[in-house]
Amino acid sequence: MRAVTRPVFPFSAIVGQDDMKLALICAAVDPTIGGVLVLGDRGTGKSTAIRALAALLPPMRAIVGCRYACDPAESDAWCTECRQRSEQGALKDRAIPVPVVDMPLGVTEDRVVGALDLERALSQGVKAFEPGLLARANRGFLYIDEVNLLEDHLVDLLIDVAASGENLVEREGLSVRHPARFVLIGSGNPEEGELRPQLLDRFGLSVDIKTPTLLADRVEVIKRRDEFERGKAAFVAKWKKSDDALRRRIVAARKRLADMPTPDAVLESTAKLCMQLGTDGLRAELTLMRAARALASFEQSVAVEETHLRRVATSALRHRLRRDPLDDSGSGARVERAIQAALGP
Ligand SMILES: [Zn+2]
Repeated sequence: MRAVTRPVFPFSAIVGQDDMKLALICAAVDPTIGGVLVLGDRGTGKSTAIRALAALLPPMRAIVGCRYACDPAESDAWCTECRQRSEQGALKDRAIPVPVVDMPLGVTEDRVVGALDLERALSQGVKAFEPGLLARANRGFLYIDEVNLLEDHLVDLLIDVAASGENLVEREGLSVRHPARFVLIGSGNPEEGELRPQLLDRFGLSVDIKTPTLLADRVEVIKRRDEFERGKAAFVAKWKKSDDALRRRIVAARKRLADMPTPDAVLESTAKLCMQLGTDGLRAELTLMRAARALASFEQSVAVEETHLRRVATSALRHRLRRDPLDDSGSGARVERAIQAALGP
């Protein structure tokens, strides 16, 4: 598990990559948007950004002694153990950092979903459950680098759990159900393997990132990275003010979200745009609307406007387009054209 005290590269110090930063912020403001898929070259700071975001978020309250970090304020989502213990007396809670759990390639299903605790089974004859990565990711982020290389059975499993918010383990005489709500963050290089449409659909937003092409940006990236490596604590301190300000904005946006008006005209534009692109099902529309609302909240607008919609449309829709054999322009360009056609210039 991530050491709490290890300095993390500050989110505010990341040079450029505005699409990725905006998508991550939207997902942090409203986790129901779904995860974020980051596609692009190696070494563009994908995993740095996700760690930076988690470190930026305010600590969360969690029930003491719970292996799934249940939220004391949400008794509906408690695990069986918290429910049982709450009947015996009030539960204590404490602040913990938002978890970021890495799912390495080649990981076994046991490690992901959890398994029988063999040591206790052998030494004490007790059938106890040893939680897996899904348990640790509850209420945080599950990060999969090279998600396109993930084995199919794990992909299916993740699709199920991400949809239900619960991990159900029935094996070796165990029957365990525990909360597993997380924001899925995937990164990968599309040239190294296709992603199945069912998994693509699980990601709320997708962004393409590239190595910066401007000389000045590249110099700045090296400068900051070098400064961070040579004196982590000092570098983090230098950016603390900016990160604190960003944290306050995210916290305020979360509060504002519930009351953020979404006018019918914006919903109509959302539907028009999805019709223009021929996206399947309601998920595209819902995600687009939620992302626009998260952005409007983050920018302290009085209501969601069409401009918010336009700015998140590419991230929310690009990965949902069916391949068009007659159109080999990039999916980002297709969304851009659809915006023009459906909503005007
Ligand atoms: Zn619990």
